[in-house]
Amino acid sequence: MKPTCILILFLIGWQTDTYQEQRNSMVASQLENRNIRDESTLQAMRKVPRHRFVPKEQQRYAYEDRPLPIGYGQTISQPYMVAFMTEVIKPQKDFKVLEIGTGSGYQAAVLAEIVDKVYTVEIVPELANQAEKRFEGLGYSNVKTIEADGYFGWEEFAPFDAIVVTAAAEFIPPPLISQLKEGGKMVIPVGSPFLVQTLMLVEKKKGKTTTKSLFPVRFVPFTRGN
Ligand code: SAH
Repeated sequence: MKPTCILILFLIGWQTDTYQEQRNSMVASQLENRNIRDESTLQAMRKVPRHRFVPKEQQRYAYEDRPLPIGYGQTISQPYMVAFMTEVIKPQKDFKVLEIGTGSGYQAAVLAEIVDKVYTVEIVPELANQAEKRFEGLGYSNVKTIEADGYFGWEEFAPFDAIVVTAAAEFIPPPLISQLKEGGKMVIPVGSPFLVQTLMLVEKKKGKTTTKSLFPVRFVPFTRGN
């Protein structure tokens, strides 16, 4: 092998390791330190290459404790928020999960590491396309993407064991409640798009829907199609 090839392989290997190190320390300091306890969530966060879900110029910040811009006025959520929203739905291996707001695809990939099937809906066509390519490139064959207004959920594949909404809605879209399975959980930021919103946990038990406020959050707005 030529020395330049060896050098390139070495550099690739070294970079992969530094990203793995960054992920391990992200999980320890940002997640375990703040009480994320679900082992499958922690494992997924150690595994998914977050730097592959952000634009090139943001890659070096990929493991920092904050959201990052992904273009089209949208953001990839802070790692802690992704982990919290994953843990709170108590993900199980045989789950079918609906996500509204694909964005970069990162949250969907984290879910896809744990559950059987992820269905994700994105209203911005360019983001839906990019995410679909990313899932393909990274081998997430259990994620299905659609460009649509997530207000209506994804009827074709309903009902879902859990629903994760990553854009702030002024109220909980009724179609999402009806597409939630009996015993299912939905996590959704609710409130005015220009103020602080509240992260809500919605549960459907014996046909009744209960909601619980978790904590204040700030998400990009849930927009509506024309
Ligand atoms: N889960 C994403 C975070 C994306 S930010 C990630 O891991 O990167 C929220 C996303 O919701 C944005 O991409 C925005 O375009 C999308 N969105 C807003 N309103 C929507 C709607 N009605 N239906 C589907 N997607 C919507």
